[in-house]
Amino acid sequence: MRVLAVEDDALLGDAIQAGLKQAGFAVDWVKDGVAAQHALETEPYAAVVLDLGLPRLSGLDVLQRLRARRDATPVLILTARDTVEDRIKGLDAGADDYLVKPFDMGELAARLRALVRRASGEAAPALCNGALALDPASHRVTYQGLSVELSAKEFAVLQALMLNLDYVLTRAQIEAQLYAWGDEIESNTVEVHIHHLRRKLAPELIQTVRGVGYLMPRAQAD
Ligand code: CA
Repeated sequence: MRVLAVEDDALLGDAIQAGLKQAGFAVDWVKDGVAAQHALETEPYAAVVLDLGLPRLSGLDVLQRLRARRDATPVLILTARDTVEDRIKGLDAGADDYLVKPFDMGELAARLRALVRRASGEAAPALCNGALALDPASHRVTYQGLSVELSAKEFAVLQALMLNLDYVLTRAQIEAQLYAWGDEIESNTVEVHIHHLRRKLAPELIQTVRGVGYLMPRAQAD
């Protein structure tokens, strides 16, 4: 899952990027509101971590413009202590959650997982489709009750497909969830991961839609 971190404090931004990377997210980090707005208009993000006190354009402005574009990307705002008013303004402007600085990186990662899950309409923490289950918190995948070992990228591809059951994802859409800026992108990478996933799980779980991309059909209930 790819997330955008918007934080002008170098130490905190660095810690957020490192912490979320460790939790399995691909993270883009920008340091002002204008750069944030540009990134949000051009890249697909599963969620945004947004500091409110930013140079050039405030976090609140970034948030209001995002929602004015009818963009429903989940947003978690970061606020300083003793700024209840900021929190209220942020939530009223369309933020989905907030954390007060200083905060724990593990909690930030858990809250982002919850936001992404709710945005996809999932109430349960694990993503399930028939005999397949994926737990974003523990990074575990089981199929027909057995644990399946996946690489970090294979896990991310599977997660993208499971968050979009019955929808065709293009190769570019899947790739966009795998890499942050500056990551070296391997060629044919999505095809290779899909190939491995089919081999480790079951070939019929992931369909190829010729000339378009890939789709995971929703499993039929008996
Ligand atoms: Ca700040």
